[in-house]
Amino acid sequence: MSPLQIFKLAEENKIILFTDEVENALKNSVLKDRKVCVISVAGIFRQGKSFVLNFFLHFLKKKIQKIEKWIDPDDKLFLGFSWKSTTEGITEGILMWPEIFLTETESNDEIAIILMDTQGTADHTTSGTQSASLFALSVLISSVQIYNVKNHLNTDHLKNLQVFTGYGGTYCENSPEKPFQKLVILVRDWEYPFEYDYGFEGGKMLLEAVFRKHRESQQEELTTIQETIEENFEQVGCFLMPHPGKEVATNPNFDGNFDCVDDEFLGCVETFVETILAPENVVPKKINGEFVTVQGLLELIKMYGNHFKE
Ligand code: GDP
Repeated sequence: MSPLQIFKLAEENKIILFTDEVENALKNSVLKDRKVCVISVAGIFRQGKSFVLNFFLHFLKKKIQKIEKWIDPDDKLFLGFSWKSTTEGITEGILMWPEIFLTETESNDEIAIILMDTQGTADHTTSGTQSASLFALSVLISSVQIYNVKNHLNTDHLKNLQVFTGYGGTYCENSPEKPFQKLVILVRDWEYPFEYDYGFEGGKMLLEAVFRKHRESQQEELTTIQETIEENFEQVGCFLMPHPGKEVATNPNFDGNFDCVDDEFLGCVETFVETILAPENVVPKKINGEFVTVQGLLELIKMYGNHFKE
């Protein structure tokens, strides 16, 4: 089994929409009428998106097997979103894992979980760039948007977020509620845990500090990045992740063995995945205040895909 391509960026700013396999996966699923939570990890290539997505996959697969201790030092990470050991042949686009999982929510509802990988290649400070369209698509389709950045969080990262959130938001202007559900900024290889600790709490403090810094440098009348982001997302969070260790970062033959990953990273990624997928946190996709089903997601993908085709 391998990820399915939903969108691909092509020449002349074109976005190609692939529907056949995706249609197959969504329309024929036994879960097609369930509400859906779509988790998309977006960011530029070679910054560990596939690696972290594989932890979600691994968790969900172990859950089906009713294995509680899902990270076991004697076990290996399930490598569904495969490794790219070089920077060549990288495709900008959105990939989806074909398996759809079921998870419970706080209200004892069971909803479907879909995992997506959204990959751009550059910075996207201008709204016209292709990558901004791609990230906007990811925001429009997902209910949990994880924005993956490396080493630190700075104003440029937030400006990028502002661009594609605002861009995506224009497609939902008549929404009675905030258009998007959850944004989590994931900072990889965080180097200053003595300043802001690893995890969600440190992330929250860092995010507030970066928002504050940006606000102070702005003229009063300008809409701040914080405003755009908070106007568009119901929930905004940030998580600071430690370095996974030398073996993961530098060995092209690393095969997912948990024993070769730093314990501190494993502890943090365990918290990260378990928190996002906890029944009280799992967020179903809504459009204009209405829940979207697995089958409805297909219609959404087609609709937005056609909007962004040109
Ligand atoms: P993607 O292109 O963003 O999906 O990145 P991958 O998950 O394919 O990882 C790219 C490379 O970075 C691989 O060699 C991984 O083993 C390595 N890697 C994965 N996660 C991390 C991380 O958190 N920090 C560092 N430094 N390297 C990582």
